[in-house]
Amino acid sequence: MRPETLAAQALHAIDEATGAVVPPIHLATTYARDASYELRGPGYTRDENPTPGHVERVIAALEGGPGALVFSSGMAAATAAIRALCKPGDHVIGPRIGYFTLRGWLERFCARWGVLLDLVDTSDLAALATALRPGVTRLVWIESPANPTWQITDLTAACALAHAAGARVAVDSTAATPVHTRPLEHGADLVMHSATKFLGGHSDVLAGALVTARLDEDWAQIALLRHDEGACLGPFEAYLLLRGMRTLFARVERSSRTAFWLAERLLELPRVTVRYPGLASHPQHAIAARQMQRGYGSMLSIQIEGGAPAALEVVRRLKLWVPATSLGGVESLIEHRFTVEGPTTPTPPDLLRLSVGLEHEDDLFDDLAQAIAP
Ligand code: PLP
Repeated sequence: MRPETLAAQALHAIDEATGAVVPPIHLATTYARDASYELRGPGYTRDENPTPGHVERVIAALEGGPGALVFSSGMAAATAAIRALCKPGDHVIGPRIGYFTLRGWLERFCARWGVLLDLVDTSDLAALATALRPGVTRLVWIESPANPTWQITDLTAACALAHAAGARVAVDSTAATPVHTRPLEHGADLVMHSATKFLGGHSDVLAGALVTARLDEDWAQIALLRHDEGACLGPFEAYLLLRGMRTLFARVERSSRTAFWLAERLLELPRVTVRYPGLASHPQHAIAARQMQRGYGSMLSIQIEGGAPAALEVVRRLKLWVPATSLGGVESLIEHRFTVEGPTTPTPPDLLRLSVGLEHEDDLFDDLAQAIAP
């Protein structure tokens, strides 16, 4: 099955008991043993539940891995992977450009638990090569495209460098989605998603996912950590996520087409610089063209001449774009990340992050045009 087919049919999910074409939500937290005191399937929901289990099979299939685990949030997934893999004395390379809450958590976690940390712009392979410490670096965490400037890391090259130093590679592929990039095919050991974004797709479920390249000891440690701590996804949330993923390809292909169109149209406006991996002016456009299929994603950023006050004035004038955090929903969102991330952030103060949804492209452009060049 091609990926859009398995997503649309959620792996051809027909309920065995009833023939229902929508899988039921399994709410039971515990499961009875039979006359021989054997379990028929799951035993307890913190370990296993058929509804999140179904989501895990679909996400694993979409990313091309042998196993996936879903979590109560993207951060729960990311921090589970890092904590399960790293012990005191290990060295971790984290993204200098990327989701700022993960960066902040990494700094706190590593300082407290004696894990050595370097924050590196992994789109700069020379910087990555310099930061790697052979035999000591345990994990390289990459986000590509990287929030909110959308730098692209050459995953094949970065994985080769990291593996040569004996490190594992995890890729936060939230912005790429499996529609555009499958990091395991480029050598990654783990893929992470904030499923709250494009996988869920409707801004109504908080969820995270990890997919592994191998069912190895590292993976067993991550599963054990989730079992011990219980940051699992509840069945209602898993149902919403499964429902959202059925339209993943239709949504992402459309919003990504609109994002590309908007990126090109925005170049016509005065006072604006556009950051989008699909544009020839993007510093890693050639890598994106190789690494991303079916488009360049639904996220772009613009920088407004005049700094933070000018950028905030644009947001105030908008009538259609919703000023809110997060991304990946059907409604287009705009955010001044500098306000949210604070003065220590590397995010430029004049930058506005745009998450493109499913509205008509002319309406989205007209609103931006009247706000930028009234
Ligand atoms: N990774 C990226 C790229 C994100 O944008 C986010 C959330 O904004 C996260 C991870 C964290 O995900 P969650 O909010 O589901 O915990």
